[in-house]
Parts: sequence; C-alpha cells; structure tokens
Amino acid sequence: MSDRVFDPADLSGVRIERRDAHQHLRGAVQHAVEATLLVARTVPGAPSGAMKLAAVAALQTVNALMSAVGARCTLAAPPEDIEMSPDSAGHLIYQCFHNPAHKWDLNGSQLP
Ligand SMILES: [Zn+2]
Repeated sequence: MSDRVFDPADLSGVRIERRDAHQHLRGAVQHAVEATLLVARTVPGAPSGAMKLAAVAALQTVNALMSAVGARCTLAAPPEDIEMSPDSAGHLIYQCFHNPAHKWDLNGSQLP
C-alpha cells in the first residue's frame, strides 16, 4: 500500500455534498485516514484492548468526517453514504451503503 493518502472525495462516483465543509475539513480527513492506517499497521495479530479501541476510534473519526462533508456514492440511485471499513480479509477499504455495495481500495481503485 502506498503512503499517499487518498482523499475519499477523489473516489470515482463519489460526490461531496458540502463542498465548503470539505474545503475546511480536507486536512482533518487526510490526517484521520493517516491515523487509521498507522494504527492498523501497528496492530499485529492479537492487539491489546487499548490498541483495538484506538483502531476503532480512528475509523469512526474518518467515517464521521466523511459524513460531515456529505460524501455520497452516486453509482446507483439514490446516492448513499460511504464508509471506511475492514473487508472480509481485514484490509481497510471504502464502501457505500448501496445493495450491492460499491467498494474501493485505499488507493482509489474500484473493487469488484
Ligand atoms: Zn454505491
């Protein structure tokens, strides 16, 4: 995984509904994504309770900020929120709440 932080606003098919808020919070979103990746990479096999809590809190911060700027998937109607979450293998991805969900890896590539 590259160290470049991919702003969720740049995901293909994702629209930011509150662009003024996004301008204001762009740095916070990037820092939150960086913090989440850093914690996720730091946690080996069986993380301590405190480290698990930090990982969950960092992820929740990313998702709260994406919600605050109104990041929505427009690949199906109506637009749906997106979130960062672990996939079935435990890797962090972005996915929307459409059914079936659209998914992107953290480099911005859409996943099948
Ligand atoms: Zn979608």
